[in-house]
Amino acid sequence: MTKEPSRSTAPIIRVQDLRKKYGQFEAVKGISFEVYPGEIFGLLGPNGAGKSTTLEIMETLREKTSGKVQIAGFDLDADPSAIKRIIGVQLQASGYYPGLNLIQLLELFAGLYNRAINPMDFLALVDLKEKAKAKFKDLSGGQKQRFSIATTLINEPQIIFLDEPTTGLDPQARRNLWDLIAGIRAKGTTVILTTHYMDEAEVLCDRVAIIDSGKIIALASPDELIDQLVATGFERPKEVKRANLEDVFIHMTGKALRRDV
Ligand code: ADP
Ligand code: MG
Repeated sequence: MTKEPSRSTAPIIRVQDLRKKYGQFEAVKGISFEVYPGEIFGLLGPNGAGKSTTLEIMETLREKTSGKVQIAGFDLDADPSAIKRIIGVQLQASGYYPGLNLIQLLELFAGLYNRAINPMDFLALVDLKEKAKAKFKDLSGGQKQRFSIATTLINEPQIIFLDEPTTGLDPQARRNLWDLIAGIRAKGTTVILTTHYMDEAEVLCDRVAIIDSGKIIALASPDELIDQLVATGFERPKEVKRANLEDVFIHMTGKALRRDV
């Protein structure tokens, strides 16, 4: 997938010394990072690291305890509604009205944003035109994720936030989603995503922040992080394989989308 350097411009997101306490427990312990326009930026880390908390604060959906967040020049404390207008947020599946089909759901979202859209255009973007009349609950895991990504695009956002977009998907559906996310970025949208799949981050992300127990312990491009590790004398214990089991699986079952994907 193409990776586009984009450092010549000012950051589109600035997070400075961000902290979040849940009662006495500090889930985010003073993290700082910047994201540049057109990047795919990954927040990586094990469960409980503080990825979703950080994302939800940037999305204006969760209060921070302290720190400074600026998104596209808007300060989170001063102007959250301006931020809401220029970002796309993936909602949890439970947020979808069960009685509505995909077209009706997209129309509902468009109404919330006060936008006139053609729902079929958005379904085409995520390869779901054939499911236009289906209910969300009747979609496969990959289809659900693709639909929820379509909903993030309705207000033509500058930035979209995706929280573990590929967790629980099979290899074909995951790769299909990587293509979709790379395609959204290719049109100029900045993408912030969380994942605990390192292969995904390596393929998709321009830069990643590794978060552990609420702190950023590394921040660089995947290649830079790998080079830094190799420079310490690190070697894999075994001879590097020229393919892995996932390659075998994809080779045998095909990369093409399944009807169910
Ligand atoms: P991640 O997304 O990296 O798995 P989270 O941001 O969801 O991590 O959670 C970070 C830490 O904060 C975890 O220890 C989690 O249990 C805790 N936490 C998250 N939300 C709440 C909450 N609403 N109340 C109390 N603790 C929370
Ligand atoms: Mg999470």
